[in-house]
Parts: sequence; C-alpha cells; structure tokens
Amino acid sequence: MTSWSDRLRREGHLISFVPTMGFLHEGHLSLMKEGKRLGDKLVISIFVNPTQFGPGEDFDTYPSDLEKDFKLARDIGVDVIFTPNKADFYPQGFDTFINQEKLPNHLCGLARAGHFQGVMTIVTKLFNVVNPDIAVFGEKDFQQLAIIRRMVKDLNFNIRIIGHPTVRESDGLAMSSRNSKLTPDQRITALSLISSLKKAQNSLKNKENSATALIGNAVEFICSHPDTEIDYIKICDPDTLDDVAEIDRPVVMAMAVKVGTTRLIDNVILNPDQS
Ligand code: AMP
Repeated sequence: MTSWSDRLRREGHLISFVPTMGFLHEGHLSLMKEGKRLGDKLVISIFVNPTQFGPGEDFDTYPSDLEKDFKLARDIGVDVIFTPNKADFYPQGFDTFINQEKLPNHLCGLARAGHFQGVMTIVTKLFNVVNPDIAVFGEKDFQQLAIIRRMVKDLNFNIRIIGHPTVRESDGLAMSSRNSKLTPDQRITALSLISSLKKAQNSLKNKENSATALIGNAVEFICSHPDTEIDYIKICDPDTLDDVAEIDRPVVMAMAVKVGTTRLIDNVILNPDQS
C-alpha cells in the first residue's frame, strides 16, 4: 500500500482516502465521490477496527458483505481497496494508542469509553500506511470528525481533512451500516431521531432559543416511541463540544439513541441566523 502511494505521489498524483468499516451504502459512496472530485487517485479502506469497540458492543455482529462492497467501490472508480488484516495491523504485543484530552469527554465518548482512542489509533495507522494528501470523513460522526481535525493539527499530519454532509434515506433516516439490523417496526421508530432534530430546527425558527427546552421536547418525542433508550441528546459548540444553554450562534444538536439493541446517532446544525 505504502509503495503504491509513494510511487503515485512521485508521479505527481493527489491521493484521496476514505476510511470505512465496510457494508457500504450511499453515504460512503458520497464520500468517495467527493474524494474523487478533490484528488485524482482514490484509496478506500475496509476494516472493522476491534480497538474502537468496547466490551458488549457489536464488533462480532458488525454487518459485512465484502463482495458487494468491492463491486460498489469498483463501480465508483476506486483505485485501491485496502483491507488490512487484523493480525498485521495489531501484531501480538501491540501497546501504543493515540489519545486526546478534551473532545472525547463528550457525547459518544462518555458512553463508549476508549472508543475514540481506538478511532484515533486506527486512523493514525491508516494515515501512516496509506499516506494520502486528502481524507474525507462524514459529518454524521460529528464528534469523530472534530477529534480527527484536532489530531491532524496537533500531530502535524500533512493531510487535508474534508467533512462531508450526512446522506439520508428518502424519509430522512441517516444512512448507516447498522440500519440493516433494524426490524421493520424499529426502522419506523428510528425516524424519531431525525424527526426530533427537525422539530428542534422548527422550534428555533419560532424563536425558542433555550437548549433545555429543545432537548426536553426531543426527549419527550423520542420516548413516545417504543423500544427506544436515549444515550444522550445534547446541544453543543461545534468546535469544543461543550454544552450550550442559549442558541445565539450556529451550534450542533447531536443524539445517540438505542432502538432495540441498535445504537443510532444523528445530528443537525441549529443556526439562529437561518430562522
Ligand atoms: P463507517 O463505515 O461507519 O466507519 O463510516 C465510514 C465513513 O463514512 C465515516 O467518515 C462516516 O462518518 C461516513 N458516513 C457513515 N454514514 C454516513 C452518512 N449517512 N452520510 C455521510 N457520511 C457517512
């Protein structure tokens, strides 16, 4: 992988990179199209990274269909599909991890101890091996994107990080590999995430600027659906992820909700200037 990148770079190519855990959907494909637009060679990785899953999480049941992924990636015109194997990437005795002090102590990081340490470690390893000029990440994983931007700045990676908007199903559900685990009833319930976020945007348009009020409404709405368990619903500063009380500038409203046993996340920007 690294010698391919070195050779292509020497030949003057600009290499884009999209890391994924596979089971590709239109969200991933949209990141890839953006990668192709920005660079002239595109690498994607498919690797379900064990170190970002905690005990009791869905590492063992994470969906996978490599054959379909390869076809989708080829049809988009991906130049390299990099699929490291676990033993090569985490050799026996592996003992080095990347950490960050502040941003992981919010949102998903609170319920998923060690998750972002695993994410930062795998992304660093992939950056070192793939050696791209550009890397594209989805805004659906808002906290992940913020953490990676911080890490790239702090550790002097010479890589341009691009955030890409969330791609949704026609009814608004944010695309996710984990949606495949939902039963038909849960699939309907899952719409309560985006519906509650849209309700918050509408309330803001009607001059409801209090985060407590908007969060309260969202909690009430989601809890009125069966089989839901809220992990968090927060309104926070997009850079620091600190809670915001009064929405007087663009902020992010983010949530994680378990529908049945499937943990879903979503977020939108709340912008008082657009209301
Ligand atoms: P994953 O395979 O879930 O690790 O996701 C790989 C990349 O795709 C990450 O940068 C995600 O943020 C991004 N991604 C996942 N779902 C979506 C979506 N619905 N829209 C845009 N990007 C997404």
